Order: sequence, then C-alpha cells, then structure tokens
Amino acid sequence: MSEIINCPSGLSGRIRGMKVREERILADRKLAKNGGQVDHLLSACWEETLNAGPYDFGDKVIDWGQVLQGDRFYSLLQIRALTYGPEYAFAVNCQSDGCRTRIEWEINLPDLPFRALSEESLAAFADGNRFETVLPDSGKRVWFRLLTGADERKLPQLKRSAGDKLLSAMLAFRVNEVEGVETRERRKFIEDLTMRDADFLVDEFDRVDCGVDTTIEIECPECFATQEIELPFERTFFMPGRERMARRRDRSSSFLG
Ligand SMILES: [Zn+2]
Repeated sequence: MSEIINCPSGLSGRIRGMKVREERILADRKLAKNGGQVDHLLSACWEETLNAGPYDFGDKVIDWGQVLQGDRFYSLLQIRALTYGPEYAFAVNCQSDGCRTRIEWEINLPDLPFRALSEESLAAFADGNRFETVLPDSGKRVWFRLLTGADERKLPQLKRSAGDKLLSAMLAFRVNEVEGVETRERRKFIEDLTMRDADFLVDEFDRVDCGVDTTIEIECPECFATQEIELPFERTFFMPGRERMARRRDRSSSFLG
C-alpha cells in the first residue's frame, strides 16, 4: 500500500505505511532521545522522491536533515494515516479547575489545516534559509532560519540544557545574525530584548513557516467547557493498538474496582 503526497514546501514523493519491522525504530529509546527516531521512520517509509521542491539532494536519496520541520511533520501524519487509517484517538484531562474529567477525543488527521510555504518564504529558504525581519522595539534587523530535521535533532538537548531560559535559548538557536551585533554578543543581545520584541520574533517564525496546525478545540462531555489544546503526540500515535489495550485494561479494572 503506497500513496503520493505533496508536502507544504512543494516536496512530493511516494510513501508507504509502516511495517512490523519499524516497531524496532519506535521502541528504540536511544533514537527517541536524540530525535533520530523520526528520521529513521521517515526514511523507511519514503519510497521515492518525485519532486524535490526547494531542496537539493543531488542524485542521492532524500536527506531528512535538510527537510523543513513542516514537511517532516506533514509526512509523518500521512504515514500514520496510511498505516492505521485517518482517525486518531487520544485522551486529555479537562482544563477546568474542579472538573479535570478525562476527555476521550478523536480527530480525523487529514482534516488538520496545513499551510503551504509561501512564494516569499520559498525564495528566502532557497537563498540559504535566511529570513529577515526588523524588531519593533529595538529597531534592529535580524536574520533567522526555519527549522530543519538537523535542527530538530538538537532540540531535546537544547531543551535539557536551557533550564528556565528556554525562550532565550530557542531564540538564540534560530537567530543567525543581528545587525551590528557580533556573534559572541548575540546571546546577551537576545537576553536584553524586550518581551514585546521576543514575542514579535516568535510570531515572525510562525508567520513565514509552513506546516500542519495542531491546535484543536475540544469540548468536555462533563462540564461542556470548550478548550484549545495542542494535539498530544505520544508513542501511541504510532502504536494505537497499545493504547487500545491500555484502555481495555483500564475499563476492566474499573469494573472490578
Ligand atoms: Zn470538564
């Protein structure tokens, strides 16, 4: 079973569903830790590239390290949908204080809205993944990049070492250049930014990027509060069977209790 997909950047190719042998990839804790799990899975299920879009893989097979996060995630969703079908069931706790009911929800993965890479962004990406903006408070011109697979691999380590300075670590990671600020002074410059400038920059990252929107609205069946949540992706995303078994166990133990 295979299918042709068109990613947000224009990259297109043929994917197949996951096979049992990929279970090894999903269960490998070391791969999960360094972020390599996703690369292995994408490589295994990507059968051929039909249009390289904005990427230059030469005459080699696709290099997922070069591929934009938006394309990677889009491909993962398609592989998941092709393997197990388009429905994705998960459970989250209601956010209302005093309710906290466990909400079981199901979505149709292909219904998640996605944004294509704009012409403007395609040009900036082709020009060395260099995006320019001007910060409103400091008036400084900065250049930043869209995250690729190679960057994604560094994120777990970055998050671990950032501690309570995650925002400045993330900004410093993505900003390649600041007008009139030397490389070694950049981190200090970023820590001295106003929150408004930082917020603006994060919005700019999102504005020029492509990908799948994973913020969804759900309603609690108990208190009827609607709430926006970030779609949870747990290991069960790629092993829905395990989730099913866990639920059955929960149910049978609550019958017994
Ligand atoms: Zn509730």
